[in-house]
Amino acid sequence: MASQEMIALGSQASVIRDLFAYGQQQAAIVGKENVFDFSIGNPSVPAPACVKESIKHLLDTRESVAVHGYTAAAGDSAVRQGLAEYMNRTYDAGVKADNFYMTCGAAASLTITLKAIVETPDDEIVLIAPFFPEYTVFVHNAGAKEVILPPDTEHFQLSLTALEQAITPHTRAVIVNSPNNPAGTVYSADTYTKLAALLNKKSAEIGHPIYLISDEPYREIVYDGAPILYVPKFYANTIICYSYSKSLSLPGERIGYILVPDCVSDAKTVYTAVCGAGRSMGFVCAPHLFQDVILQCLGQLSDINLYDANRKLLYNGLKDMGYDCVYPSGAFYLFVKSPEPDAKAFSDKAKQLNLLIVPADSFGCPGYVRISYCVDPDMIRRSFAAFKQLIQQYQ
Ligand code: PLP
Repeated sequence: MASQEMIALGSQASVIRDLFAYGQQQAAIVGKENVFDFSIGNPSVPAPACVKESIKHLLDTRESVAVHGYTAAAGDSAVRQGLAEYMNRTYDAGVKADNFYMTCGAAASLTITLKAIVETPDDEIVLIAPFFPEYTVFVHNAGAKEVILPPDTEHFQLSLTALEQAITPHTRAVIVNSPNNPAGTVYSADTYTKLAALLNKKSAEIGHPIYLISDEPYREIVYDGAPILYVPKFYANTIICYSYSKSLSLPGERIGYILVPDCVSDAKTVYTAVCGAGRSMGFVCAPHLFQDVILQCLGQLSDINLYDANRKLLYNGLKDMGYDCVYPSGAFYLFVKSPEPDAKAFSDKAKQLNLLIVPADSFGCPGYVRISYCVDPDMIRRSFAAFKQLIQQYQ
């Protein structure tokens, strides 16, 4: 016997994982160089040198228990202190060690945060399409309902009018993700200023705070001088969910944090609920070695110039062929309009050419595909003939 809900979830295929697995199978048949796998967001740029150096240093200089032993449930206090000092230096954030809860990446940060703030089954969490597909799973796990804002397919920015209409007395939180997976768009300071004004007004109207959950695994991966912003400076009731999966290329090490700054109303209560939610789901004591590694690598970033070069190569290449692409200002995804309304059918045609691109239906944005460009630039160049052949089928 097992939970029907969990059986359903465990047996649902993820389009991204399916395409990735298909790519591995095809590589064995037609050769790795003939498969153009743009399916998954696995950072292709190596972790910065400080990661390897600090791992070696920690293993060489510390006793086993000081590297592999349990830390406090919320994370090592020296690590959280270091993080607070870094955020204060960089963003003038005014935070302390006790505002941070260390987690196993952004997925855990989000699941814990949602579990902490949801009170009743009527609670609603607003998702802005296109969004990371796992959000719906996390919202259901917290026992809330998702309310989905349709995508603004003109600019892929936030529609404040649509958001205003979506907010009800049951709204608990809005999740934002900038730089965005899958659209690659970045919110400006002006967008956050307007968003804050709306959320303050609506919070007053409905008589309780609407939290802004800022999912920031791509925070520093921005191009052309796009802004890196500290969102609580704009809207006080912001909870930050961060991860080092992308900024330090460490997705397999599962390390990140939740930041509940003191400007959040009832910050202490919310933070205590975060500790409780982490405890209830067994997300305590994030990987110790990597807590210390990130402390030693604060302010470091994988070489995003390599992503930037891929971005230009792919965007310009596909535009020249006639594809309709969203210009990405951050993250490492190119969002492309399917030349036929059914993006799944388009992705299937691409698959016939060993071109693996993800239909965006599960991102809440039918009619588009996501192309991950965290890949070898040679693969991008080799893929152009297949992209050309694909678009010619529609010309
Ligand atoms: N949020 C977004 C927008 C993502 O793109 C991802 C991963 O790709 C996650 C959350 C989960 O990140 P992590 O691997 O750190 O759990």
